[in-house]
Amino acid sequence: MANTIHILSADIANKIAAGEVVQRPASAVKELLENALDAGATSLAVIVKDAGSTSIQVIDNGNGMSPADALLAFQRHATSKISTAQDLEAIRTLGFRGEALASIAAVSQVEMKTRQSENDLGSLIRIEGNELKEQSPTAAECGTAVTVRNLFYNTPGRRNFLKTRNTELKNISDVVTRMAVIYPEVAFLYVSDEEQLLDLKPKDAGGRLADLFGDKQFRSLLPLKETTDFLTIEGFIGRPDFARKSRAEQFLYINRRSIMNRSLNHAVFQAYEHLMVKGAFPFYVLNLTLDPAKVDVNVHPSKLEVKFENESAMYRFVLHAVRKTLGEHDLVPSVSLGSAESSLGPEGRLHFLSGIGAQTHLGDIPQVQSPGADIDLGRVFRKVERRIGNDVVQKDGEATFPTDTDHQPPVPPERVVQHLPIGSAGDQLAIQDGKPIWQVQNKYILSQIRTGLLIVDQHVAHERILYEKAVANFENSLPTTQQLLFPQTIQLTASDYTLAKDLIPHLEKLGFDLKLFGKNTVVIEGIPADVRVGSETQILQDVLDEFRNNEHTETMDARDNLAKSFACKAAIKAGDRLNTTEMLVLIDQLFATQMPYVCPHGRPIVVKISVDELDRRFGRTVK
Ligand code: ADP
Ligand code: MG
Repeated sequence: MANTIHILSADIANKIAAGEVVQRPASAVKELLENALDAGATSLAVIVKDAGSTSIQVIDNGNGMSPADALLAFQRHATSKISTAQDLEAIRTLGFRGEALASIAAVSQVEMKTRQSENDLGSLIRIEGNELKEQSPTAAECGTAVTVRNLFYNTPGRRNFLKTRNTELKNISDVVTRMAVIYPEVAFLYVSDEEQLLDLKPKDAGGRLADLFGDKQFRSLLPLKETTDFLTIEGFIGRPDFARKSRAEQFLYINRRSIMNRSLNHAVFQAYEHLMVKGAFPFYVLNLTLDPAKVDVNVHPSKLEVKFENESAMYRFVLHAVRKTLGEHDLVPSVSLGSAESSLGPEGRLHFLSGIGAQTHLGDIPQVQSPGADIDLGRVFRKVERRIGNDVVQKDGEATFPTDTDHQPPVPPERVVQHLPIGSAGDQLAIQDGKPIWQVQNKYILSQIRTGLLIVDQHVAHERILYEKAVANFENSLPTTQQLLFPQTIQLTASDYTLAKDLIPHLEKLGFDLKLFGKNTVVIEGIPADVRVGSETQILQDVLDEFRNNEHTETMDARDNLAKSFACKAAIKAGDRLNTTEMLVLIDQLFATQMPYVCPHGRPIVVKISVDELDRRFGRTVK
């Protein structure tokens, strides 16, 4: 197939984001790989010496170039990929600027061998610093081999500017890896100073990831796919407990082009809110497929940045898709009895992510059922099993991808008192409906599930329930208040009084009914449905104290802080004895929340001991 390269008119050339293409060896490798893939290669080799400063060789089995094209290819603005300004509006190839080969040839000694399948002979071209040294027919494999020697030999400033050999090689490896991840059907060979770093056979997407990152890492990934009429997102996301210490293993692509995009990265990060240890990052490989006319790649010469027609819709789409995938999987940490540490790390504790925009939007939380003595045990356990069982299932009330026009207000909560009746005397072991449930040390709730034993920390479980309710209350402003028969008066310090005054609109949304009496006195006339009557003054004081503590340590907005402070202080405590109904209501409500696995401060709520683990422990052979 002929490439028929032409020189872009000055008019179009001027519309192309100007700037340097080749800043370092890795950028040359990236451009050469893009050319090979644009040429339809199914097999690629990248061979570098001295991290690319002595030589870079990229060999492909793509469609090659005619002798005339081979020469033209090194001219500036010479490309076969676009011809009109309109083409620039919808770029379908990795390259389009017609500058890479010219730029590389200007600062190095380049040799190119290329042959198209219809020709018996290929052509050899040697160029040094943009000067043609040789063009001759030559025997060559089908495809193209470009060798770049002594990069920046004629620009010593540039050459001296290069980082250490290790850094440059790492950058090259990164470029090769990013390409290999998203072109799994292409074979990649990558050699550095005679050492073979990668030898990847064509595979499906998952197989390629397993080859690149190992089977263990691959097994920790959750497949993701979500489609709308104009957008598809597909790939894999890491289980939170396999988080990485850096962003290096975050692979984001638009139409199989590796890009950097803070907003979409943040969308993914946001979806993992409360699930990650502080300073950890989720592993992910995500490719967005959309009409090339809806994304502008011509923003920066490196083509790493893109602009979307509708950035906020993209953000919401990514957030939704990742959240949904996480919600569909069992993220309960399985404890191994053999070690003291849980899979959550040495502290056994996750941190709340206090980063930017850490506020959740919980408009789509399935509403909790109002508890009652006649609770349907079977239903509670089915709900638990649905979310914890091994099968991948959709959770109740699954939200659909919100579009710009389709921002539905959250469903208001039922106007019922939804609180756990605390303090009633209860039995500690109950067997109902064939499902025993225990309270251990007035702290933990134990129950059998299909795959093993479930252990719930009652305080953090209730904290999660109250937190999600509080956030929902902030958003749909329908608090449930219990009016007090005997209003309580509380004397605050001057600064707490000011704080309470500032927070009153928010406190009211939580369900407090407060009157400011001056002289630092507040009268509590009503309290949220979840607060125990009799403890109202204590809880208000505790919430204010906690709010201040959080202000010092975390950067979060006032509402989120208040929701957390309230949840923490109003929740049942370790030591509170629960009866069977209370335990069941708690578990029922917990598994109706968006994130039943981690409390708002990042502590685990639920752990599971699998039957396999017990079998191992008791010396039974596990298949
Ligand atoms: P661009 O990729 O932006 O078009 P380049 O300077 O990278 O610009 O390449 C110029 C042209 O040379 C390409 O448009 C393509 O036609 C041809 N070309 C470059 N590399 C290859 C290759 N490996 N196989 C086939 N054709 C190639
Ligand atoms: Mg190119």
